[in-house]
Amino acid sequence: MVPLNTPHTIRLPVEVIVGKNVIEYIGKIIAKHLEGDEVTVLTGPNIRPLYSNTVTASLMDYGYKPHVDTVYSPKISEVERLLTQAPFSTSAIIGLGGGKVLDVGKVLAYKLKKPFVSVPTSASHDGIASPQASLEGLNGSHSIRVDTPFIVIADSYIIASAPKQLTLGGIGDVLAKFSSVLDSRLAQSLGEYIGDYSISLAEMSAKLVFNNLAQIISLSDNGIRTLLEALISNGIAMAIAGSSRPCSGSEHLFGHALDLLTSKTILHGFTVLLGTKISLALHGEDWVEFSEKALEAGLPMNARQLGVPPVYVVRALTFAHKIRPDRPTILGNGITLEKARKVIDEVKLV
Ligand SMILES: [Zn+2]
Repeated sequence: MVPLNTPHTIRLPVEVIVGKNVIEYIGKIIAKHLEGDEVTVLTGPNIRPLYSNTVTASLMDYGYKPHVDTVYSPKISEVERLLTQAPFSTSAIIGLGGGKVLDVGKVLAYKLKKPFVSVPTSASHDGIASPQASLEGLNGSHSIRVDTPFIVIADSYIIASAPKQLTLGGIGDVLAKFSSVLDSRLAQSLGEYIGDYSISLAEMSAKLVFNNLAQIISLSDNGIRTLLEALISNGIAMAIAGSSRPCSGSEHLFGHALDLLTSKTILHGFTVLLGTKISLALHGEDWVEFSEKALEAGLPMNARQLGVPPVYVVRALTFAHKIRPDRPTILGNGITLEKARKVIDEVKLV
């Protein structure tokens, strides 16, 4: 919990580019801001054959020598392996891939004290532009603070080509802000410092995505850009707040608790979306319209659709508050088994 009147630093990306085929200009974009000749490109095994050549060709056009490496797992041991391989003279770490690659890239860049260039190939969560990273073996199940990505290059054509489930996951992570902002305001009332601007930014992203769901799920360029801009705005909200606070409340605690029980087999955006339904109900807000509209858009709104046994859902809700006891939310000091069953039944979660 951050007390009132504590100074904090706001670090924002120097450039954010969103649009069709912008990946082809990566060399030109980076050359505007970074000197040096070597750069490290991290990518995933499935993404490497698709886009790695486009990226390296553009970098070479601008005089860079790219060193490409593959990220296999979202673990701290993977960062340690890469630490022994990334050239010390590298000017930047470029993460070309999904959430796992970006998280590993952010932590590697942080440890090497080098700028991180975020090039997402899917819009599955709000880590695209955030100063937060989540890795196995790092700090329990929640994220840690790293540097804000220096440059973000989000190619809407590539993201529209990603599996649709990933895009739906990204929508879920944005809609989760409907409850995280309620927890932020609750924490404010208890004396925690969270800037109003960061809360409003997170809330606005959720409203924009909710009001444009049909366009986003059609995967039109405008729809994808709306989602991308919302995910990036959430990263900026975290950079302004100095923590993940405005974007991560009780619904994320529930999601992380469910991750522990299901071994992270479900997309992050889907577990926090279930949590959002519960949190809205606990806050006394209208969850019905929210749930109906999200369901209509094709988002999973109950545990059955995700193949999660009801017993896991109940158990997750009873220990979610223990994930981050330093962070007050509507879960308070915990939800009793009886209350958990009641609220899960009420919001038709199982
Ligand atoms: Zn999230």
